[in-house]
Amino acid sequence: MLAIRNVSRIFGGLVALDKVNINIRKGEIRGLIGPNGSGKTTMINVITGFYVPSSGTIHFNDKDISGQSPYNITKQGLVRTFQNINLFSDMTAIENVATAYSLHMKNNLFSTVFNTSFFRKEERRSFEIAESILDFVGLKDKKDLRAKNLPYGQQRLLEIGRALATEPRLLLLDEPVAGMNDQESDEVAGLIQKLRDNGKTILLIEHHMKFVMSLCDKLTVLSSGNVIAEGTPREIQNNEDVIRIYLGK
Ligand code: ADP
Repeated sequence: MLAIRNVSRIFGGLVALDKVNINIRKGEIRGLIGPNGSGKTTMINVITGFYVPSSGTIHFNDKDISGQSPYNITKQGLVRTFQNINLFSDMTAIENVATAYSLHMKNNLFSTVFNTSFFRKEERRSFEIAESILDFVGLKDKKDLRAKNLPYGQQRLLEIGRALATEPRLLLLDEPVAGMNDQESDEVAGLIQKLRDNGKTILLIEHHMKFVMSLCDKLTVLSSGNVIAEGTPREIQNNEDVIRIYLGK
């Protein structure tokens, strides 16, 4: 589904990614791990069009998306969440998701300019879809609360809900359980499994090792911009290079 081939990204003289190759199959949950500064965020930014690769190619469903804009990449079904919460804090939960949906459907501008019955119908539909998404992420009973009044863990679930409103095929989650307690991160793990069962493919960056090891089908380990290991959680846990970089030996 996603083929990253020989991708490098250089900032000034600093090689943040050095000829990286990663292949992700449809339906898998892939974890991208590595110490701070190893290039994980740069990789997500390059995949989603926020950075242009200095060299190499990225194919999504056999289509070359390297260097395309984030908007075009999202439209094709490759959607990300951010490390920091990125919600409309004064809007309610359902408005946040409905807005993401209508922005995705590109009729938001028209619907405010022409308040016709067609657009009102579309707006109603976006709220129906938003409600079913909130149900899916476990926030249906919170739909009328403002985003800023939700506890942190629920704000992050809402963010995943917003990403789902854009109908992703591959979802990139940037530290989905950062700052969460065990119960909240178990909830996110359950949600990610449910997404996979619904045919989504997931790529996630995460520092929470227990979460990553119990959830991911496969892990890719970056160190100084290079892939130093790839395999099942069990293989990665026993990989000497990985143990060395994490323990600093
Ligand atoms: P990680 O997400 O694994 O912590 P990053 O991708 O953020 O790693 O960073 C990889 C390297 O690239 C680091 O040395 C970082 O300082 C550098 N880097 C990342 N973004 C930029 C940027 N916009 N300009 C210059 N250097 C950057």
